[in-house]
Amino acid sequence: MPIAGRKEAPVVVEKEVATVASTISGRTTELPANWNRMFEPRVLREHTSSGFAALRAVEGGESLEWCYGCGKCVPVCPVDVVGEYGPRKLHRFVQRGGDLLHDDLLWLCTTCANCLRVCPKEVNMVRVMPAAREQAVGQGAVPRELQDVFEKTFRYGNCLGENPRRRALWTRGAGVPVRVLPQDPQPVDVLFYVEDYWSYHPRGQQAAQAFARVATALGVDFAILGPEERTVGDSQRLAGERGLFEALAEQVMATLAKYQFARIVTPDPHAFNALLKEYPKRGGHYEVLHYTQLLAPLVDRLPMRSDLPPRRVTFHDPCYLGRHNGEYDAPRTLLRAIPGVELVEMARCRENGYCCGGGGGGMWLDGLSGSHTRERLSERRVREAAATGAEVLAVCCPYEVSRFEDAAKSTGNEQLVVRDIVELLDEAMVKSADGGGGDGA
Ligand code: SF4
Ligand code: SF4
Repeated sequence: MPIAGRKEAPVVVEKEVATVASTISGRTTELPANWNRMFEPRVLREHTSSGFAALRAVEGGESLEWCYGCGKCVPVCPVDVVGEYGPRKLHRFVQRGGDLLHDDLLWLCTTCANCLRVCPKEVNMVRVMPAAREQAVGQGAVPRELQDVFEKTFRYGNCLGENPRRRALWTRGAGVPVRVLPQDPQPVDVLFYVEDYWSYHPRGQQAAQAFARVATALGVDFAILGPEERTVGDSQRLAGERGLFEALAEQVMATLAKYQFARIVTPDPHAFNALLKEYPKRGGHYEVLHYTQLLAPLVDRLPMRSDLPPRRVTFHDPCYLGRHNGEYDAPRTLLRAIPGVELVEMARCRENGYCCGGGGGGMWLDGLSGSHTRERLSERRVREAAATGAEVLAVCCPYEVSRFEDAAKSTGNEQLVVRDIVELLDEAMVKSADGGGGDGA
């Protein structure tokens, strides 16, 4: 049992011979000493607790030591499905003297929280990993690809190193007007927090434009921060750059304080997570919705085309929308509202959804992860999606469209179309002459 967060040393009970009685026949059997250890506390002869001391030094890092080796976490760990991983294996690695802070293993966890869901000891990798990485970052032991992202975020306020003045360029292709608050600072209902990939990535921009058209069709009063937007910084925090996250949070809260809005809506489950759970700890209290939660109660008002062919669609739950924040239904409500869509679930879905590999900084560590796994997590997921017979893999996280499109190509599943849910809604709705929706607006 843990005492003040630490384990008691096991009591060693060695017997020369163990006698076991059958509960059916009543016969007794004698087992030699090496067998009787199965019935007594396991004795670990090669172990040290020094590796755990380094983890314990930072708040959040202590729980890895609580592992008692039941093994429940390993089969649900998405990284173990394609490699060798999971809290139990990491615990044993440290226990045997491994230096987690200076090993590639530190960077493979996507903080997807599937292990925490099943762990009886509440070993919490969502806290352990950022804490351990923070120490590694402090010592300069950061993978090069991640260091680049930290530097870009620090300089430009976005992980892609793009010019902040180009934040709102995507609006030009939307076909509907999008209000930019710094130019038109009137109060607004929905502050649409676009985040990096929907602002700058070509496939993300298409989804942002689709959102603008759908929201306009539904009569949503929304506006963006445009050049004043900075990333909320959740993935940088999970990747160990807490100082950068704190600085970003201060900037973002100062910007938000300049404008009047009722709620924040974002397409990014990481931004959603941080605005909901991390910003309040720093004084930033907002009503925050994922875009699927905004649209789900309104979707019945969206005028839909009547000429859509039947299509099998499967849906990938983003870890930070589903498992971390409990939203599984809003995306499915939207998909079921589209005429012709037959929603088929993958075996791993909802609470047991499989991680795309992009969480916890994994978005920027594909090179390092790829050298430790048989295939990328996104490739594994695409093969699971294709196995359902679906024609479309629907997503609702900005990280996922490009990840899964790449994975569909590299696994030979080009027939699988990857679409953000809002793109499917946009394709399905009746367009009016001004580019928005029809009479349902
Ligand atoms: S589920 Fe928890 S206690 Fe069991 S092996 Fe995994 S980390 Fe250890
Ligand atoms: S958080 Fe996810 S990736 Fe990390 S160890 Fe747990 S199950 Fe594996």
